[in-house]
Amino acid sequence: MEACPQFNEDTGFVGAATISQVRLFNTHPTGQALKRERLSALMGDGGIQECGYAQNCVEICPKEIPLTTSIADVGGQVMKQALGDLFRK
Ligand code: SF4
Repeated sequence: MEACPQFNEDTGFVGAATISQVRLFNTHPTGQALKRERLSALMGDGGIQECGYAQNCVEICPKEIPLTTSIADVGGQVMKQALGDLFRK
């Protein structure tokens, strides 16, 4: 997280690792039960919108986890849910 310019006290950004975990849990059959809650949490302060796509995280990840792929995927899920919520109101 140290390499992420957005991961600091000012933004309160949850960071790439957390977003990647959300992707993992949302795809897991058991984890899907809380999918909406996870995505709603990423719409709030310090959520996915704080990512500036600097790509530092994916460049330095020692495990070569496709973090920016996860950020893009979860970003799409968040957007889809946000739009759905707009029409649900
Ligand atoms: S892409 Fe950049 S801003 Fe986004 S989590 Fe990775 S290092 Fe941080």
